[in-house]
Amino acid sequence: MGKFFIFDFDDTLAGFSVYNTWLYRTGWSFPPPLGNLLPGSEEVLGRIRADRIPLHMLTINIVLNDEMKWRKLNRLGITRWFDERHVHMVRRKTPDVFKQICRGRDPKGCYMVGNSYMHDIRPSLEAGINAIYIPRPHIKRLYDSFIPDHPRLIRLKRISQILDIYDDL
Ligand SMILES: [Mg+2]
Repeated sequence: MGKFFIFDFDDTLAGFSVYNTWLYRTGWSFPPPLGNLLPGSEEVLGRIRADRIPLHMLTINIVLNDEMKWRKLNRLGITRWFDERHVHMVRRKTPDVFKQICRGRDPKGCYMVGNSYMHDIRPSLEAGINAIYIPRPHIKRLYDSFIPDHPRLIRLKRISQILDIYDDL
Protein backbone atom coordinates (compact mmCIF):
# COMPACT_ATOMS: atom_id res chain seq x y z
CA MET A 1 0.00 0.00 0.00
CA GLY A 2 1.36 3.40 -0.95
CA LYS A 3 2.04 5.85 1.83
CA PHE A 4 1.16 9.49 1.46
CA PHE A 5 1.94 12.33 3.87
CA ILE A 6 0.48 15.76 4.50
CA PHE A 7 2.37 18.05 6.89
CA ASP A 8 1.29 21.11 8.77
CA PHE A 9 3.96 23.83 8.81
CA ASP A 10 3.62 26.14 11.83
CA ASP A 11 4.68 24.46 15.07
CA THR A 12 4.93 21.11 13.32
CA LEU A 13 7.93 21.62 11.02
CA ALA A 14 8.95 25.09 12.21
CA GLY A 15 8.68 27.22 15.33
CA PHE A 16 8.19 30.94 16.09
CA SER A 17 5.11 30.92 13.88
CA VAL A 18 3.24 33.84 15.41
CA TYR A 19 6.31 36.05 15.59
CA ASN A 20 7.34 35.29 12.01
CA THR A 21 3.83 35.82 10.67
CA TRP A 22 3.69 39.21 12.39
CA LEU A 23 7.07 40.11 10.94
CA TYR A 24 6.20 39.16 7.35
CA ARG A 25 2.97 41.08 7.78
CA THR A 26 4.86 44.27 8.64
CA GLY A 27 7.23 43.84 5.70
CA TRP A 28 10.14 44.94 7.87
CA SER A 29 13.52 43.42 7.32
CA PHE A 30 14.58 44.14 10.89
CA PRO A 31 14.25 42.47 13.38
CA PRO A 32 14.95 39.25 11.47
CA PRO A 33 12.66 36.20 11.33
CA LEU A 34 13.44 33.63 14.01
CA GLY A 35 13.97 29.91 14.03
CA ASN A 36 14.93 27.12 11.70
CA LEU A 37 13.13 23.88 11.10
CA LEU A 38 12.39 22.06 14.37
CA PRO A 39 14.89 19.35 15.30
CA GLY A 40 14.14 16.16 13.41
CA SER A 41 12.08 17.76 10.64
CA GLU A 42 14.83 17.53 8.03
CA GLU A 43 15.54 13.89 8.80
CA VAL A 44 11.88 12.91 8.61
CA LEU A 45 11.21 14.79 5.37
CA GLY A 46 14.45 13.47 3.88
CA ARG A 47 13.53 9.88 4.70
CA ILE A 48 10.10 10.20 3.10
CA ARG A 49 11.54 11.87 0.00
CA ALA A 50 14.23 9.20 -0.31
CA ASP A 51 11.41 6.67 -0.66
CA ARG A 52 9.87 8.84 -3.39
CA ILE A 53 6.69 9.17 -1.36
CA PRO A 54 4.66 12.26 -2.26
CA LEU A 55 4.73 15.03 0.33
CA HIS A 56 2.04 17.64 0.59
CA MET A 57 1.79 20.60 2.93
CA LEU A 58 -1.46 22.01 4.25
CA THR A 59 -1.18 25.30 6.08
CA ILE A 60 -3.65 27.91 7.22
CA ASN A 61 -3.14 31.35 5.78
CA ILE A 62 -5.39 34.11 7.04
CA VAL A 63 -3.06 36.93 8.02
CA LEU A 64 -0.66 37.06 5.07
CA ASN A 65 -1.25 37.09 1.35
CA ASP A 66 -0.12 33.99 -0.53
CA GLU A 67 3.12 35.55 -1.68
CA MET A 68 4.12 36.65 1.84
CA LYS A 69 3.19 33.24 3.21
CA TRP A 70 5.24 31.54 0.52
CA ARG A 71 8.25 33.67 1.47
CA LYS A 72 7.75 32.74 5.10
CA LEU A 73 7.64 29.01 4.22
CA ASN A 74 10.49 29.03 1.79
CA ARG A 75 12.83 31.01 4.03
CA LEU A 76 13.47 27.55 5.46
CA GLY A 77 13.99 26.05 1.99
CA ILE A 78 10.94 23.82 1.95
CA THR A 79 11.20 23.30 -1.82
CA ARG A 80 13.94 20.81 -0.97
CA TRP A 81 11.07 18.44 -0.07
CA PHE A 82 7.80 19.99 -1.24
CA ASP A 83 6.81 20.66 -4.80
CA GLU A 84 5.27 24.14 -4.92
CA ARG A 85 2.11 22.63 -6.44
CA HIS A 86 1.75 20.45 -3.36
CA VAL A 87 1.71 23.32 -0.87
CA HIS A 88 -1.90 24.14 -0.05
CA MET A 89 -2.78 27.38 1.73
CA VAL A 90 -6.32 27.51 3.07
CA ARG A 91 -8.41 29.61 5.39
CA ARG A 92 -9.70 26.55 7.20
CA LYS A 93 -8.69 22.90 7.26
CA THR A 94 -11.96 21.07 6.75
CA PRO A 95 -12.54 17.33 6.17
CA ASP A 96 -13.35 18.19 2.55
CA VAL A 97 -9.93 19.79 2.08
CA PHE A 98 -8.28 16.57 3.28
CA LYS A 99 -10.52 14.45 1.06
CA GLN A 100 -9.63 16.56 -1.93
CA ILE A 101 -5.87 16.31 -1.32
CA CYS A 102 -6.12 12.53 -0.81
CA ARG A 103 -8.48 11.95 -3.71
CA GLY A 104 -7.74 8.74 -5.60
CA ARG A 105 -5.52 7.36 -2.81
CA ASP A 106 -6.22 4.61 -0.32
CA PRO A 107 -7.07 6.52 2.88
CA LYS A 108 -5.40 3.78 4.92
CA GLY A 109 -2.04 4.95 3.59
CA CYS A 110 -2.68 8.68 4.08
CA TYR A 111 -1.26 10.47 7.13
CA MET A 112 -1.73 14.02 8.34
CA VAL A 113 1.06 15.23 10.63
CA GLY A 114 0.24 18.22 12.79
CA ASN A 115 0.43 19.95 16.16
CA SER A 116 -3.16 21.16 16.45
CA TYR A 117 -5.98 18.81 17.41
CA MET A 118 -8.59 21.26 16.16
CA HIS A 119 -7.00 22.20 12.84
CA ASP A 120 -4.93 19.15 11.87
CA ILE A 121 -6.16 16.08 13.67
CA ARG A 122 -9.92 16.23 14.06
CA PRO A 123 -10.69 17.16 10.43
CA SER A 124 -8.30 14.54 9.05
CA LEU A 125 -9.84 11.80 11.21
CA GLU A 126 -13.27 12.97 10.06
CA ALA A 127 -12.06 12.73 6.47
CA GLY A 128 -11.21 9.06 7.07
CA ILE A 129 -7.41 9.27 6.96
CA ASN A 130 -4.78 8.69 9.67
CA ALA A 131 -3.43 11.45 11.90
CA ILE A 132 -0.08 11.83 13.64
CA TYR A 133 -0.46 14.27 16.49
CA ILE A 134 2.67 16.00 17.81
CA PRO A 135 1.48 18.74 20.19
CA ARG A 136 3.73 21.59 21.14
CA PRO A 137 4.60 23.61 23.09
CA HIS A 138 4.94 21.18 25.98
CA ILE A 139 2.37 22.92 28.18
CA LYS A 140 -0.33 21.98 25.68
CA ARG A 141 0.22 18.30 26.33
CA LEU A 142 -1.72 18.43 29.58
CA TYR A 143 -4.80 19.59 27.73
CA ASP A 144 -4.09 17.12 24.96
CA SER A 145 -4.14 14.16 27.33
CA PHE A 146 -7.92 14.63 27.46
CA ILE A 147 -8.26 14.09 23.75
CA PRO A 148 -10.05 10.80 23.09
CA ASP A 149 -8.21 7.87 21.58
CA HIS A 150 -9.05 6.94 18.05
CA PRO A 151 -7.97 3.89 16.05
CA ARG A 152 -6.45 6.12 13.37
CA LEU A 153 -4.75 8.54 15.78
CA ILE A 154 -1.04 8.25 16.61
CA ARG A 155 0.41 10.50 19.32
CA LEU A 156 4.08 11.39 19.36
CA LYS A 157 6.19 13.69 21.53
CA ARG A 158 8.55 14.87 18.81
CA ILE A 159 8.67 14.73 15.05
CA SER A 160 11.81 12.56 14.93
CA GLN A 161 9.75 9.70 16.42
CA ILE A 162 8.10 9.31 13.01
CA LEU A 163 11.31 7.54 12.00
CA ASP A 164 10.80 4.96 14.79
CA ILE A 165 7.35 3.97 13.55
CA TYR A 166 7.89 4.69 9.86
CA ASP A 167 8.19 1.09 8.67
CA ASP A 168 4.99 0.11 10.48
CA LEU A 169 2.88 2.89 8.98
MG1 LIG B 1 0.44 24.14 13.30
